[in-house]
Amino acid sequence: MKTYTPTIGLEIHAELKTETKMFCDSKNDPHHGEPNSHICPICMGHPGTLPVINKRAVEHVLTVGVALNANLASYTEFDRKNYFYPDIPKGYQISQYAYPLVTGGSLCDVAITRIHLEEDTARSLHDQGEGSIVDYNRAGVPLMELVTEPVIHDAKTAGDFARELQLLLRTLGASDANMEKGEMRVEANISVSDSDSFGTKVEVKNLNSFKSVEGAIAFEIKRQIEQLERGEKVIQETRGWDEVKGKTFAQRIKETANDYRYFPDPDLPKLDLRIGEELSLSRIQEKMPVLPAKKREKYENIGLAREQIEVIISNKFIDTFFSNAVSIDGIEPERIKLTANYLTTDLLPLLSSPAELANCSVSNFVSLMALVHSGKINSRIAKDLLRDVVIDGADPVALIAEKGLEQNNSEEAVMAIIDKVLAEHSAVADEVRTGKDSALQFLVGQCMRASRGSANPQLLASLLRKKILG
Ligand SMILES: [Zn+2]
Repeated sequence: MKTYTPTIGLEIHAELKTETKMFCDSKNDPHHGEPNSHICPICMGHPGTLPVINKRAVEHVLTVGVALNANLASYTEFDRKNYFYPDIPKGYQISQYAYPLVTGGSLCDVAITRIHLEEDTARSLHDQGEGSIVDYNRAGVPLMELVTEPVIHDAKTAGDFARELQLLLRTLGASDANMEKGEMRVEANISVSDSDSFGTKVEVKNLNSFKSVEGAIAFEIKRQIEQLERGEKVIQETRGWDEVKGKTFAQRIKETANDYRYFPDPDLPKLDLRIGEELSLSRIQEKMPVLPAKKREKYENIGLAREQIEVIISNKFIDTFFSNAVSIDGIEPERIKLTANYLTTDLLPLLSSPAELANCSVSNFVSLMALVHSGKINSRIAKDLLRDVVIDGADPVALIAEKGLEQNNSEEAVMAIIDKVLAEHSAVADEVRTGKDSALQFLVGQCMRASRGSANPQLLASLLRKKILG
């Protein structure tokens, strides 16, 4: 068998978060409300109506461009992409062809070709009894399309790119980018070749989960190689993905740009972005949040584990809670690590979803972490108090004083507990002398219990060992 190189380029659509649609005042809320309730004569394509560009949508795309170190267009215009289908009431979709808002840039070392702005189509629902029905709530919703260079060579890299883009769009507040809701949709162009030139490109559409993205690409690479090995040609076509069967299937022969007869939309003004005060580069940079790559680097330098970093930065509730808990000036790396551990390992499992962190007390969590870090309380006590203090809002200092939970670091006091426990368990102490480690652990446990959890565990273990073994 020859050696084949797979080449993959991605086209990713994301619905942008704005109050209103791309070119009218209808509500941008395609996932709620009665079908066909967020519509007006403009997005329904009535004759004589005029579209108006949504500035916020333009700003979102430019912000994504800045985050990707891309070039922002100084001049841009909108084009009509002509085709006839019930999901597009005007008979054309307003998109950008020759002058996209953003070009270049990269994410996860994958080069980006362009990002342009367009309007979403209506949602067609088939198999609904008689015929199909169309819901126009989605028609005209602002949509960005990001196109990568054909520089990806395996399914996993494509999946990682899509995951990172989702995280970035969420961080920027540009899109919720839930794939299962269709807020982010991935298409993959896949070819394989045994020479220096590209093979025939097949487009796989409607990939609505990261699993589908990786599954469809892996399947398509294998299918195309097998076809070429049989001496057959790969046909340039659009294929769908059957999640259940784990296979792609032929849908239609692919259209080319010529089929759409793109031309500049005469109803919309050309945009000269050099003069826009509100959309200037410095304004966008000013409002830029800390990006995922930057956070990752910062936390890696502190010494947080890679998986822990992903848990923290991939969810906005966890990320916000953690950022607030460690935002104190001069907080030591050891305490930041401690805070990350208690948050991800102990606090999160007490909640039914990370969203509940929004109702948790950050200041109490910070106080509790300070108490553990300084040795005022031991880790057992801190874990036991998490619910009362962080979820229910009890003051940790008062609670510790009230229940007498302060860590007992006094040798004298700890020795008194040890003497009491050994008097009751002299046989177990003999077992320790024969070298039985579990017997020692048992005695440590008994002493901790006798101290109601307040003894310093390290001090306790070392005194106990000394007492029995001499
Ligand atoms: Zn409308």
